[in-house]
Amino acid sequence: MTQTFEANLQKYAELIIRTGANVQQGQEVFVTGAVESATLIRYVAAKAYEAGASNVHIEWTDDALSRLKYEKAAEDVFARYPDWETAKRDSFVDRGAVFISIISSSPDLLKGIDSKRISSFQKAAGQGLKSFRQAMQSDLVSWTVVAAAGRQWAEKVFPDASSEEAVELLWKAIFDSVRLHAEDPVAAWVEHDRSLHEKSAELNNRKFSKLHYTAPGTDMTIELHPNHIWVGAGSINANNVSFMANMPTEEVFTVPLKTGVNGYVSSTKPLSYGGNIIDRFKLTFENGRIVKAEAEEGQEILQQLVETDEGSHYLGEVALVPHHSPISQSNILFYNTLFDENASNHLAIGSGYAFNIEGGKTMSAEELEQSGVNASITHVDFMIGSGEMDIDGITSEGTVVPIFRNGNWAI
Ligand code: ZN
Ligand code: ZN
Repeated sequence: MTQTFEANLQKYAELIIRTGANVQQGQEVFVTGAVESATLIRYVAAKAYEAGASNVHIEWTDDALSRLKYEKAAEDVFARYPDWETAKRDSFVDRGAVFISIISSSPDLLKGIDSKRISSFQKAAGQGLKSFRQAMQSDLVSWTVVAAAGRQWAEKVFPDASSEEAVELLWKAIFDSVRLHAEDPVAAWVEHDRSLHEKSAELNNRKFSKLHYTAPGTDMTIELHPNHIWVGAGSINANNVSFMANMPTEEVFTVPLKTGVNGYVSSTKPLSYGGNIIDRFKLTFENGRIVKAEAEEGQEILQQLVETDEGSHYLGEVALVPHHSPISQSNILFYNTLFDENASNHLAIGSGYAFNIEGGKTMSAEELEQSGVNASITHVDFMIGSGEMDIDGITSEGTVVPIFRNGNWAI
């Protein structure tokens, strides 16, 4: 490890703790990450204690062992989520912990595994983690998702480089995407947060009732929830503490009216889901419901995603990201949604966020659903943006305003 790299890792850990998690005095910290990323995770723990954390709990994962389990474990293991795993997370939520996920897995880690095992476990985990996910989706607790350069992931992103070079290149791309090269990265994020909040405020002022998307393979109208709120970058938890749910983040997003989506949309980047890749796919909607899902690659996995539950037939998120976003301009295909979604307009299959409607954070799950916010045990973003995408905003009076032209902001 070079000195520069080590210094960058420490700077990154500091950014994760201060800007992403914003750890408070006396708070507990729950970190999920791979043994492969141990060096970063040790720095993250050290910075967390420095920031006043009372306890840092590390939940270790290992790609090779995860895959081995899918290959060898008994069938019924995938049909249930362990109660004690549910209880562990819920108890940290009850104590107001902050959750840090450090992702690094190979995008096709589970390629070739029986897809029934994968979808069965996705469903079981969705059920088992329901209350935990609700706590995050309503910003009850602080949470942040960040990345570390896993070797197999790096090799997928940079297939022409040697294994070692690929890891270096992926670290560089991760550092660039989180503005680590800025003189003061924490301050750079304050500025970035402000600019995304400004964009959201502008869209909130306009109160569009519908968005109309056109691009090759796409002609779709999305009615927004009548009480929708556009948000971007920083979030605020139930104790009024700010945090950054994703690093990087370049999106502003809101919630569609569950039954208000009509037309068809084509993906523009591969989607890594459940350790498999779904690519070149097209979804057709009628009154919000997906009535057709066709993929050139990963058809079976796509079908299983859409059939996770009733809510996975509907959308829960509409996000706008200019084609000229810094991540998009890096021209790197990450095969990882945390990065690719921030290089592209995207949508999410599954649940909508409570904070995306007026008063939503204090509404019950039933109230949210009744108001037209989609509910599901899953939430999966997929990329639809390109330099050829136009989006019009339509006001309740029927006025049409260009929002995106050729993939970039027109307002
Ligand atoms: Zn998103
Ligand atoms: Zn999302």
